[in-house]
Formats: sequence, C-alpha cells, structure tokens
Amino acid sequence: MADPAECTIKVMCRFRPLNSSEVARGDKYIPKFTGEDQVSISGKPFMFDRVFGSNTTQEQMYKASAQKIVKDVLEGYNGTIFAFGQTSSGKTHTMEGSLHDPDGMGIIPRIVQDIFNYIYSMDENLEFHIKVSYFEIYLDRIKDLLDVTKNNLSVHEDKNRVPYVKGCTERFVCSPEEVMDTIDEGKSNRHVAVTNMNEHSSRSHSIFQINVKQENTATEQKLSGKLYLVDLAGSEKTYVPYRDSKMTRILQDSLGGNCRTTMVICASPSAYNEAETKSTLMFGQRAK
Ligand code: ADP
Ligand code: MG
Repeated sequence: MADPAECTIKVMCRFRPLNSSEVARGDKYIPKFTGEDQVSISGKPFMFDRVFGSNTTQEQMYKASAQKIVKDVLEGYNGTIFAFGQTSSGKTHTMEGSLHDPDGMGIIPRIVQDIFNYIYSMDENLEFHIKVSYFEIYLDRIKDLLDVTKNNLSVHEDKNRVPYVKGCTERFVCSPEEVMDTIDEGKSNRHVAVTNMNEHSSRSHSIFQINVKQENTATEQKLSGKLYLVDLAGSEKTYVPYRDSKMTRILQDSLGGNCRTTMVICASPSAYNEAETKSTLMFGQRAK
C-alpha cells in the first residue's frame, strides 16, 4: 500500500490532429515524437510522463491517464485530473468527448462507467453512496451548473481544513446513465444566458466532482474518496488560468497531501500555433 501522505503528480501531453481548416490552409504538422515520453517542436525537446500523438484513441488516453486514479479514489484517495491548453487544443474532447458514443467518450464518462462496474462487481456487504457536483468558475465567480439560481458560491474549508464549494448542489446518483443525464443537464444550464458559448468556455473553468463513499455493513468500516475533473479555461491568456483565486483554492488540496493528480497538456500540432504550443509545453514541464 502506498504512503497515504504521498502525493503523485503525473503530466501527460496529447496532440490533437490538424483540423480541416488547418489542412485546407496547408499548415505544417510540427510535433516530432521521439519516444513514449518525449516530443520535439522545431528541434526543442519536451519531456512528460507520457506523450500521445494525434491518432491516440479516447480509450488509450483513458487507460494511460485516468484508469489508475479511479482505483485510487475507490481506495479512499483524492484524485484530480485536469486539462490544460489553449482554446481548441482538445481539452473538452479529452475530458468529456461525446458522452453517449462508446468510442468517442472522453475521460469523465469512462471514469463513471468504471466506478459503477466496480460497484456492481463488489459483494453485498459493501454499501456505496455516489454523489456528483458540477460547477463553473467564470471571472472568479462560481456558478452551480445543477442549479442556475446559485450563481455566486464561495469556497469554504471543512473541519479538516479541506476547501469545498459551499452550498453547491450534490446529486446522488445510482447508475452511469443518471450521471450522463446530470452532465447533460449541467451543460444545457451552462448555455443559459450565455451569448457566445465559445468565448465563454474559453474563459471559464468547468469542474465535475465525484464523491464516492463506501461502508462495509458487516465491519462498519468506512472509506471515502473524491475526484475533481477539471476542464480549465484556455491557456492563451497572459496568466496561468488555474491561478484564479477560487480555482486555486479548490485545487490546493489536490496538489499536496493525500492526492493523485494527472494533468493533461493539450496541444495543437499546427505550425500556425507553434509559439502557443511551445509555451503550453513549457508550462507542463515546469509543473512537474
Ligand atoms: P478545447 O476544449 O481545448 O477548446 P475542444 O476539445 O473543443 O478544444 O477541441 C476543438 C475541436 O477539435 C473539437 O471539434 C474537437 O472535437 C476536435 N478535437 C480535439 N481533440 C481531438 C482529437 N484528439 N481527435 C479528434 N478531434 C479532436
Ligand atoms: Mg473546451
């Protein structure tokens, strides 16, 4: 068993394919994959725990970056996976993908499936309580995506000094389908009162939280783990997006102590984005 005080942070890097307008413009494909953990941009090498090329499937991405964290959360650890990168680099594709298509599903729906598969496989003495929250942070305001009337929530600390979003809706869920419905509900709420969704999502963070509580009814032993799945604002701004004060406070618990954290650096392969891609990869290297 790992040391519970130990914190592991893994940094992965994923390149999306060239999109149709980049292909039409004749953009050069610039990353050179020089090993499982290394990529070069114009001769400059960048190292990560793993690097994923443009034809990586959603399933491969999930297995390499997230599956282990599910196991950790079920053992009572706190896990965080966040996607970092400029707008249009594949953050939402990686975290969410298409929720209802088995091949296209991103990390979040696959995690949800794995958690329930695990529960269904366990013996009857174990009782599980799964609850989810879904909120976004825009201009440092926290909005509950499961209750639009809560549009300015604040970060508090519990008795163990662990930060949490006070008053945020917590939805108990009993099946993967129920979780997907909850995500769909949150996404449609997110569109409410937003005139330009692209602009909005490039400037806001969205956070999907899953809490797993389990109790052995024979021994009364209890275990609880928490997972934050974060789709960060676009990194093309002149600041590091997660340093918004509320986002930082929420993530602070995930970057020290009893944590399992994976950061997925998402990048464009086009020569057109070279400067942005280099600064994104530089940030990812430094984060380790
Ligand atoms: P971001 O959330 O970083 O702004 P998106 O995830 O919305 O970017 O990706 C931008 C576009 O590129 C979307 O149409 C998405 O489907 C597509 N895309 C991103 N990554 C991939 C990938 N690995 N394979 C295929 N299409 C991708
Ligand atoms: Mg996005």
